[in-house]
Amino acid sequence: MADNYQCHQPYSNDIVSEIKDDVTNDRQDTSNTNIYTKKKIELMCVVCGAPAIGYNFDQITCESCKAFFRRNALKSLGTFKCRCCTGVSDVNILNRKRCKACRLQKCFAKGMRKEWILSDEQKRSKKQKMKENRRVRQLNNCLTEFEVQVTANKTS
Ligand SMILES: [Zn+2]
Ligand SMILES: [Zn+2]
Repeated sequence: MADNYQCHQPYSNDIVSEIKDDVTNDRQDTSNTNIYTKKKIELMCVVCGAPAIGYNFDQITCESCKAFFRRNALKSLGTFKCRCCTGVSDVNILNRKRCKACRLQKCFAKGMRKEWILSDEQKRSKKQKMKENRRVRQLNNCLTEFEVQVTANKTS
């Protein structure tokens, strides 16, 4: 029995040193990664080519196109009549405001999803929920204050 214990001793030491090696390797790896900073610079709006901050409605877009899409994507495409002759592929940062029809068409062509926009009803229910939560929190605060007062009165 005592032999068994002695046999295990060197093993556990090996394992500890292995784990230590892994940890130091990990540290070296993370210090060498520039991928994240590179990615940020390369992000470009799929609709107009402006610098983009990230995914909006399933595609990488700039703030301007994100807002434009949210405002207009739920309207029917017939609402907008093309006022330019540039065509969908030529929407860019300079002319994007000139023609809503082309811009919206390009948003869809690039795969932006209007299903991801919260409908008015969803927004309302979300707001309602937030309101209720706030009321509950206030109520709880009042109750605890009340309890504090009661206990304070009892002790005095
Ligand atoms: Zn854009
Ligand atoms: Zn147009």
